[in-house]
Amino acid sequence: MSTIALHGVSKRFGSTQALNQLELEVAAGEVYALLGANGAGKSTTLNLLLGFLRADGGEVRVNGIDPAVDANAVRASIAYLPEQVALYPNLSGIENLQYFAALAGRQLGTNESMELLRSAGLAMAAHGRRLGEYSKGMRQKVGVAIALAKRAKVVLLDEPLSGLDPSAANEVTKLLRELADGGAAVLLATHDLFRARQVADRIGILKQGEKRAELQAADIDAAQLEALYLQHMEA
Ligand code: ATP
Repeated sequence: MSTIALHGVSKRFGSTQALNQLELEVAAGEVYALLGANGAGKSTTLNLLLGFLRADGGEVRVNGIDPAVDANAVRASIAYLPEQVALYPNLSGIENLQYFAALAGRQLGTNESMELLRSAGLAMAAHGRRLGEYSKGMRQKVGVAIALAKRAKVVLLDEPLSGLDPSAANEVTKLLRELADGGAAVLLATHDLFRARQVADRIGILKQGEKRAELQAADIDAAQLEALYLQHMEA
């Protein structure tokens, strides 16, 4: 059984069919990148998995649990990194990590916190500085450290790389691979075809709430992926 599973999932907002009979599975240890234009249904998919939205039809499961039935149980196993990780600007990196880890039921000492921040690629000199002084890439790394602290079985990311410089994006991309290698199912919504191909095992292309293509990242190079994506967008 896949850790993340959506079968025949539909979701409508008024007259907009945001998702139409979506089929999607992500296994433990796998990174899956969901591509699609603005409004394709990527965020809606993540919000259904988080239990923030309820599907009109079909089956949504995270570790076998329906988020619409037990959102708390599902969220306990999920680390969610949105485009802007919501952290406290007046707390330091260590304090933010400790606060959010405690919410997930883990009390972290200073040494363990620093080790997690270091694993997430945050330089030691920044650990004690207030978040308000961090760059976007540094904040994303604290988000990754929280995911590591939570030992999340499921990692959901909505545009986590947008606005990051190439080296920060490269570092965060590597961390996603490490989270998957540690056994997490990682589902990433992104517009970044290059990084999607670099990090993902499988790639899905969404259009108007439907999965139009799904492929193994290893079967395609960056230029081929771009051509395929554009072909689907124009069709
Ligand atoms: P983006 O790349 O811009 O983030 P997306 O692929 O994440 O887009 P969604 O945010 O899932 O797309 O939106 C899918 C469709 O559903 C869009 O047409 C959007 O306008 C609509 N939609 C999403 N949420 C709502 C809502 N709460 N109320 C009304 N319509 C919504």
